[in-house]
Amino acid sequence: MRVDLHCHSRASDGSLSPSELCERALQRSLEMLAITDHDTVSGYRAARAWLSERPAPAQPLQLVPAVEYSCVWMNLGVHVVGLGIDVDSEASIQVQESLRAARLQRAELIGERLAKLGMPGACEGARALAGDGQVGRPHFARFLVQRGHVRSEEEAFDRYLGSGKPGDVKTLWPQLEEVVARICAANGVAVLAHPLKYRQTATRLRKLIQAFQAAGGTAMEVVVGRQSADESRVLAQLSRQYGLRASVGSDFHRPGPWCELGDIAALPAGCEPVWESIATEGEGLCTPAMRER
Ligand code: MN
Ligand code: MN
Ligand code: MN
Repeated sequence: MRVDLHCHSRASDGSLSPSELCERALQRSLEMLAITDHDTVSGYRAARAWLSERPAPAQPLQLVPAVEYSCVWMNLGVHVVGLGIDVDSEASIQVQESLRAARLQRAELIGERLAKLGMPGACEGARALAGDGQVGRPHFARFLVQRGHVRSEEEAFDRYLGSGKPGDVKTLWPQLEEVVARICAANGVAVLAHPLKYRQTATRLRKLIQAFQAAGGTAMEVVVGRQSADESRVLAQLSRQYGLRASVGSDFHRPGPWCELGDIAALPAGCEPVWESIATEGEGLCTPAMRER
């Protein structure tokens, strides 16, 4: 089955509109797509509306209601994808409201810090670039490039926005346990996103996985973005060891040299694919068996 369970639209820091993203998925013959915008389901809602209005394609595209939440674990910024969540539930609405407030507060703090470093107006600039979408560090990076403070978005992260840099404000995010609980309360499956992106030691990564699992997490990304076969093997081994179902996704943000939508290597043998337990109809809510977990 051709699935992509991690990508972004303009509702967060992607460059395509939700309908363009769906169109791209259809062109690439994907059968299941989860739009996992940062902390919001507005992109998913727009995509669902667009898909329901157009004539059914020859190859139907299942759209999974999903999101990528920001949180902290032991002072480390971590992302958790929620798949098959009830987007209208109290749990979903509450956590997204608090994350939205945290994002705006964070944007102001990043703006203040950059102003002190001689780069004024960044909060307003980043918010303008985000438009109606959720403001994030990529918008700050684009602003810094536009103003000529850095030559590339990569340099912006290296010098000002990346882990441990002035723009790395994470104390405002909720705890890992809280976002996992909210996903479960919304009948979703909590998926630990891109586990190798946190650059933890093997021991600390295991601790993170254990904490995630203790909080109610039941899946992890095993093939995500462009990664080596070795990295896939390491993640597959961890998913088998902890009995976590395996998810796959491109983490597509925009056309370019990065991972293309749906361009995902095969899942290593012995992993239990998370999409097999996501319902195949309606809004793609979880199966009753999953709700019991
Ligand atoms: Mn992003
Ligand atoms: Mn992420
Ligand atoms: Mn992502």
